[in-house]
Amino acid sequence: MTVSTPLIEIKDLVKEFPVKGGLLQRTVATVNAVSGVNLTIRRGETVGLVGESGCGKTTLGRALVRLLEPTSGSIIFDGVDITHLKSKDLKPFRRRAQIVFQDPYSSLDPRTQVGSSIAEGLRIHGVSEKDERHERVQEMLELVGLHASHASRYPHEFSGGQRQRIGLARALILRPDFIVADEPVSALDVSVQAQVLNLLKELQSELHLTMLFVAHNLAVVEHMSDRVAVMYLGKIVEITDRDQLYSNPLHPYTEALLSAIPIPDPDRPRSATILQGEVPSPIDPPSGCYFHPRCPIGQKGICDVEEPELRPIENDLQRLAACHLRTGDYQDLDPRRLAR
Ligand code: SF4
Repeated sequence: MTVSTPLIEIKDLVKEFPVKGGLLQRTVATVNAVSGVNLTIRRGETVGLVGESGCGKTTLGRALVRLLEPTSGSIIFDGVDITHLKSKDLKPFRRRAQIVFQDPYSSLDPRTQVGSSIAEGLRIHGVSEKDERHERVQEMLELVGLHASHASRYPHEFSGGQRQRIGLARALILRPDFIVADEPVSALDVSVQAQVLNLLKELQSELHLTMLFVAHNLAVVEHMSDRVAVMYLGKIVEITDRDQLYSNPLHPYTEALLSAIPIPDPDRPRSATILQGEVPSPIDPPSGCYFHPRCPIGQKGICDVEEPELRPIENDLQRLAACHLRTGDYQDLDPRRLAR
């Protein structure tokens, strides 16, 4: 099997949440959390998914492992359409696709010994021999850098970093092919973030995992990913190879996110693009390009009217962006081109 074969293909994925109100709890509005996302993740690769809080990246990650049922569109996993499978039919998929949650504190039951928490997946998936479960839990604890004897301890006896290692052990005990790592280090102290990220990277390579790495921190995503997708208000606005994205971002939103990463070198000053305003509400997204109310180069009469498609740049099918001025028919209006 080659690295370039797709493991996951998402087509026009939409996830909406109804907002209920009034005495009869009728639907009064709809939150458009994910709006028509197309994405392919190849076997063995890590795709980073970045964007501000509330942009829909966690919802997309949860829909991919079917913790949420999509409203429309499709998710094809290893050739099988899992978009609307019922719980009982999802069991084989659940064995192959797991999630690591953001908060290691709340994702573990405080009254359950960690060995038992880690073994839960084995019990559900029919590993009935207690001795076998015990052995596999001990192996997994050692694989994530803990000690086999930790199996009999409770979550409160561990530090934040150790609890996230337990979260990783829980996700990996079934030897899945695919994991969604949903902001796996953002709840941890900075001093232990690097250890957990390096461990995740080692495990990904050792276990040949395919991964969607969700984070709002672009520096962390750069360290982890082969390709990066940038999400804004429920849509992917740019996706490309990691090095391309960090050296030559195309979408104005990506440029603004990158310019906000601090560089710890006073000899390399960088002018930050400060975005104006807040992310608009996903209940009532703007017309045209969703980014136009905050875009520093947006053109009235174009960007507020027409929605840009996510399309290849200079026929490079691996490099896509959704911007009229960078990939569309209005490239001559791009101030960056005019300045050349
Ligand atoms: Fe900015 Fe217009 Fe491009 Fe949207 S389409 S990112 S508003 S220039």
